[in-house]
Amino acid sequence: MTKRSTFVAAVLALLVAFAGPQAFAQQPAGKSGIERMYVLYCGDIALDNASEFTPGATGPGALSVTCYLIKHRDGWLLFDTGLGDQIAAMPNGFKSQVGLWTVKRTLTSELAELGLKPSDITYLVLSHSHPDHVGNLGLFSGSTLVVQKAEYDWKLPDGKPRFDPAQKVITAEGDYDVFHDDSVVLISTPGHSPGHQNMLVRLPKTGAILLTGDSVHTKANWDGHKVPSRNFNVPQSLASLDRMAAVLKENNAQLWIGHETSEVPLRKYSPAYYE
Ligand SMILES: [Zn+2]
Repeated sequence: MTKRSTFVAAVLALLVAFAGPQAFAQQPAGKSGIERMYVLYCGDIALDNASEFTPGATGPGALSVTCYLIKHRDGWLLFDTGLGDQIAAMPNGFKSQVGLWTVKRTLTSELAELGLKPSDITYLVLSHSHPDHVGNLGLFSGSTLVVQKAEYDWKLPDGKPRFDPAQKVITAEGDYDVFHDDSVVLISTPGHSPGHQNMLVRLPKTGAILLTGDSVHTKANWDGHKVPSRNFNVPQSLASLDRMAAVLKENNAQLWIGHETSEVPLRKYSPAYYE
């Protein structure tokens, strides 16, 4: 131990003695185990009708699809899996009920660029189980799934489970601190689906960021306090918007809306990263 590190250790010991370890748990700056966060491109959606996701909008629209990858000292964490990589091989994209899905770059290739295989992902966190968020779920059968219990228990219309019962899973009931250091906290925001969740990330240098999933699809919805009528439970969705506003305020956090196309040019995409 150098003189300087001995000094730092002594100061830390004093601080812990006065403040107690609990105070440190609530003081994430400098303590977060996150080393980096990558923003991954996970597809594009061209909507026939923008109003299906943004009430009041007219004409066609577009949604970006975004995934996020976190390097934490205790493992790699992926938030959402986007549209399926197989769509990249479809010359005309995939026509879904709401529009056209295209994939210009596969998630697998983006991970490979970072020297990773899907099996390197320790935790797979899903905002929810809609197809544009679980398109590559099958690649991560070796990861520990982290979803809300309400989402996990929500059956498909044919009565089948949404997830492979053989996959290792953590089913959260409400907010959940993934690495137990306050660096990645799942925020329960039901309504869009029964067990929808956001992810609050506390980056050591960039600060706190709230990643939305589909509790908000577009900035217009956030600004206008609106949600699509197609949501599973509209009043619950609106209450979740209020919860998000409180979380943003409490944590002085930025809101990053993964489906908002106007935010795409604002982000550094992988292999660049945020610290
Ligand atoms: Zn959705």
